[in-house]
Amino acid sequence: MEQSRESGFLFCNLCGTMLILKSTKYAECPLCERTLDAKAIINKKIAYTVTAEDIRRELGISLFGEKTQEETELPKIKKACEKCQHPELVYTTRQTRSADEGQTTYYTCPNCSHRFTEG
Ligand SMILES: [Zn+2]
Ligand SMILES: [Zn+2]
Repeated sequence: MEQSRESGFLFCNLCGTMLILKSTKYAECPLCERTLDAKAIINKKIAYTVTAEDIRRELGISLFGEKTQEETELPKIKKACEKCQHPELVYTTRQTRSADEGQTTYYTCPNCSHRFTEG
């Protein structure tokens, strides 16, 4: 037999207030003072399992696999375009094959479309 992990998690079906488990035998609604047999509560299994997925959806968080927005919104940097002096440039970084050379940064000017690299 499974021990009740879901003890004390039921709401009053009259007023919706969370019931207080007074003892192992019965629960009581603090508002309308209605009592319920604890056995009935456990059998109903109203204690629901909240999955990680539900929490994420609730909070509007997407953890992985949704990169569409990142791809459309390119990162910007406060750097002047060497051609038209536009103060903000779009950039992407790419790791070069040779470890000695490290990372190359590609800048694109949103104003004049001038492209240049650094790194
Ligand atoms: Zn109630
Ligand atoms: Zn420019």
